[in-house]
Amino acid sequence: MTDFTAIKNSIDAVRADIPEGVRLVAATKTVSPEVINFAFRSGITEIGENRVEELCAKYPYLELPEGAKIHFIGTLQRRKVRSIIDKVDMIQSVDHLSLAREIDIRSREIHKVTDILIEVNIGEEESKSGVHPDDALELYRSLYEMRGIRVRGVMAIPPKGRLTEYYDKLYKIYSDILKNAKSNDKIDIISIGMSADYREAIALGSNMVRVGTAIFGERNKQII
Ligand SMILES: *Cc1c(COP(=O)(O)O)cnc(C)c1O
Repeated sequence: MTDFTAIKNSIDAVRADIPEGVRLVAATKTVSPEVINFAFRSGITEIGENRVEELCAKYPYLELPEGAKIHFIGTLQRRKVRSIIDKVDMIQSVDHLSLAREIDIRSREIHKVTDILIEVNIGEEESKSGVHPDDALELYRSLYEMRGIRVRGVMAIPPKGRLTEYYDKLYKIYSDILKNAKSNDKIDIISIGMSADYREAIALGSNMVRVGTAIFGERNKQII
């Protein structure tokens, strides 16, 4: 049974930790549309989904409040870009030129400019996606001509428990991108921080946190 009161209380508690200027993205993987809609009614305005199939299945049932935003935060295969491009406001997991190119093409097809973040594998972990830290700026530069995307900044999932150590490294990459920003882009987002460390991330300077468990409780199931 879903404990709606507990979710409401968690949303209130997390939101109370989020200062002005920091965006809270509720990570809604495995969360049902019913619960997501309740979260929207409880003050959540942005959600992040990880899987294309799950997002597409849930999408028709979402009651998006005015101004609500959907982020894609999981691994994205090129061939699946087309099925989500009309549904998402931001794709946070761009780590390849070929993926960026596909997002660019599919966005222009529907006369849209899609906001993206460059995902950096900040801890250089084999199990994680993201561009190698040394290649992030070069990837950004290779996107200059793409009119269907607008780069907004960087995203990372640091090695467990080692946020402080890696935040500076991510910030350095963000600054390098900012210094090299082309005029159409609006580089202003550092997306780092999850349930275990979002307060710490905000204290370090993150301005977008992605929080799942601390709002919806432990995930133990895949619903789609
Ligand atoms: C699931 C997920 C989160 C949220 O993780 P929690 O620990 O549940 O807060 C954040 N970012 C990404 C990319 C995720 O997949």
